[in-house]
Order: sequence, then C-alpha cells, then structure tokens
Amino acid sequence: MSSDQTPKIILKPGRDKSILRRHPWIFSGAIKSIEEPLQPGETAAIYSHQMDFLGFGAFSPSSQIRCRMWSFDDSGFELLPEAKLLKTIYRRIDNAFRLRAEDIQLNKSNAYRLIHAESDLIPGLIADVYHDVVVLQFLSRGVERFRDEIADYIAQVTDATFVYERSDAEVRTLEGLSEREGPLWGQGTNAPVIITENRVQFYVDYTGGHKTGFYLDQRENRLKVRKYAGGKEVLDCFSYTGGFSLNALFGGAQKVTAVDISGDALARLQENATQNGFSSDQLEIIQADVFKQLRLFRDQGRQFNLIILDPPKFAPTRKQVQRAARGYKDINLMAMKLLRPNGLLFTFSCSGGVEQDLFQKIIAGAALDAGVDLQFIDKMTQSSDHPVLSSFPEGDYLKGIVCRRV
Ligand code: SAH
Repeated sequence: MSSDQTPKIILKPGRDKSILRRHPWIFSGAIKSIEEPLQPGETAAIYSHQMDFLGFGAFSPSSQIRCRMWSFDDSGFELLPEAKLLKTIYRRIDNAFRLRAEDIQLNKSNAYRLIHAESDLIPGLIADVYHDVVVLQFLSRGVERFRDEIADYIAQVTDATFVYERSDAEVRTLEGLSEREGPLWGQGTNAPVIITENRVQFYVDYTGGHKTGFYLDQRENRLKVRKYAGGKEVLDCFSYTGGFSLNALFGGAQKVTAVDISGDALARLQENATQNGFSSDQLEIIQADVFKQLRLFRDQGRQFNLIILDPPKFAPTRKQVQRAARGYKDINLMAMKLLRPNGLLFTFSCSGGVEQDLFQKIIAGAALDAGVDLQFIDKMTQSSDHPVLSSFPEGDYLKGIVCRRV
C-alpha cells in the first residue's frame, strides 16, 4: 500500500471517531505520535491507535488543526510522487468548475465562488471568480504548498486573464503563515473589475475590498429582496458596496437608504448606482454606525417598508455567542420598530457560532421586546456556490430569515 512510504500520524485511542465520520480536521490533542521529519504542508498517512489506515492529510505543525484530510482512503490516491496528489486536486477543481455551471446561471452572473475550501474537498482554498479575474486565498499549509500549481491550473480552467492572491486573512497566522497579497498569474492592472450578478453590474475592488472583494454568498438572497422591493421604501443596513441596495432599486423600490460605516464601501456603492443608471434622488447614502443610526431614525420617526440587516460576523466562534446574541437582538429590535405594518425584515447572521435555531430564538425575543407581531415567511442560506459538505457542518455559516411585521 502506498501509505507505507508516507510519514505516519497515529491518533490517540478513541480519537479516530470524527475521521471515521469523514470530518476533515484532526486537532492537535487527538494525535499520539508523528513520524518525523514531516514538513509543514507535507502529506501524512493517518492511522488509528490500532493502526487501521484512515486516510491522508496535510500536516500543519503550528495550528490547533494539526492536519486537514485530503482523502479517507487510498483508492486512486497513490501519493508518491506528490504529482499524484496534485492530480487529485486538479480533478476536484475541474469537478467544482463543472458543477458551478449547474448552480449558477452563468449567462446572468459572471461572478461566483469556484472553490469553497473544505466543502469542495480542497481544505483551506478559496477561489472566487470575478469575470476574467480570479482571486485566491490560501488558508492552510496543505494548499500553501501547491500555491503556484493551483494558480496556474485555475487560470487555465476558468480562462482567466489575471489571478490575484488575497491571502491576507488573519487565520493564516494560526497556520504559522504570514499574510500575503499580490498578483499571482497573468496580466492585470489591479483596478476594480466590473462583474454582472443577475444582470446587475458591480465594481469589485478585489485588491482593497473586504474578503476577496465581494459577498458572493448573498447572490440568491439579493434576488429575493428584488422580488419584494417594488414600490417600497427600503433600508439597507451594513450595505457594503450596495449588493442589496442595487437589487432593491432593480426591483422597483421607490427609495433606498443605505447605511455603512465604511466610506470606501459607500463611495463604491455610489459608483455602482451610477453604473446601473439610477439617479441619486432614489438613493440616500449614510455613513454611520448602524447601532446608532437605527436609534436616530427612531427619534426622527422614520419608517420603512423593507429593512435589510446583514451585519459582519459578531461571533466567529462559539465563545463570543453571548455577546453576539445581544448585538443581533439589539439591531433587530430597533429595526422592527422602524417597520411599517406589513413591512418586511430580511435579517442575517454569518456567525459560525450562532446556529439557525438560536438565531430564530434571538429574533423571536427581539419581536417580543419590541412588542410586535412577527411572521417568519422564509428562510435563507448561503448561495449554492458556497456548498456545505454534509460531514463538515462548520461550512454552514450564513442564515437568514424573511420576517413580516403584521
Ligand atoms: N450586505 C453586503 C455585505 C455586508 S458586509 C452585501 O450584500 O454586499 C458587512 C458590512 O458592515 C461591511 O461593509 C462593514 O463596513 C459594515 N459594518 C461593520 N460594522 C458596522 C457598523 N457598526 N455600522 C455600520 N456598518 C458596519
């Protein structure tokens, strides 16, 4: 068996359970011994305490997630030489690319997530396509090792002209990797690229914007807002560059008010509105802290027919859940008070630590305290190009509820 030639990692008694359930992470505390020398990112063969072979994974010496699994068997996965592993990665990229064409109407949208890390069986890799530009994030030792090969291959598969790296995410420090950003392949000017999402155009600043430049995970939910927005006065809180605002305008909103704390994001929002031919009298842009602005609207007696709350992650992990819950409750309670009767609230949480059930309870608690009757009329999640692997519930981070104040 090829695994004989590969350095071994042996787990402690009973610590093979999650691997047998095909969860892709091995935490440092689960490991009994590591056969040295093993380089960062190198592939190890994983064994249970009883020396049952469990699969192959990439070693990460300084991370709590000491190993991320490449496979849970060795069929078709002979690892030596390492070129064989690369072929497996290429096959997974090909497959993800094929599947995106099923998930997304590529004639209407030319921006999508091509690789969603663990959920596309390539742990630690994010690949976002923005028209002819691809933005990559290498967030684990395993993919860091094949950075150039992966960039070349994805460029070919997607027919990109430029591949840019945004490995400036903080999680890299947990892997003992420094943050890194810059051109990786091909020719590009670093200037914002114009993408089309369901026929709306957006400038995406992939060098300076948040994450890789745009929140692709909200694509389907923005369409839903578009469907409900006709004739309404809309408030888009945490608007960023206007993903929801522009969709509301496309849906025939009478007026949209966008609030964000970032001046850069709002400048981009204004450009996006102009690019799509909307006049400034349909759009009010406010640079402010949403927590304060909602109170100001209350004091001014402002009311809306449709409110969107898409805040940043309040609880990246379970530890911050209590504080996050207070934050969610506060903004939701305030927003409910600003809703006209029969008004709609599109409320989201992208906190991994806050599960759907808890989120719904928080919203219900906010309705109670606000003294309003609230219906839940729809549930939302991340768009289909951000799949959730059934063995990796951590990938299921975005939840949203469409509520109606009756
Ligand atoms: N709805 C957006 C994505 C929102 S991301 C879209 O569809 O593209 C979260 C946004 O919240 C960021 O733009 C960030 O600048 C903003 N933000 C973070 N904290 C804030 C606060 N306290 N008040 C207002 N905006 C805030």
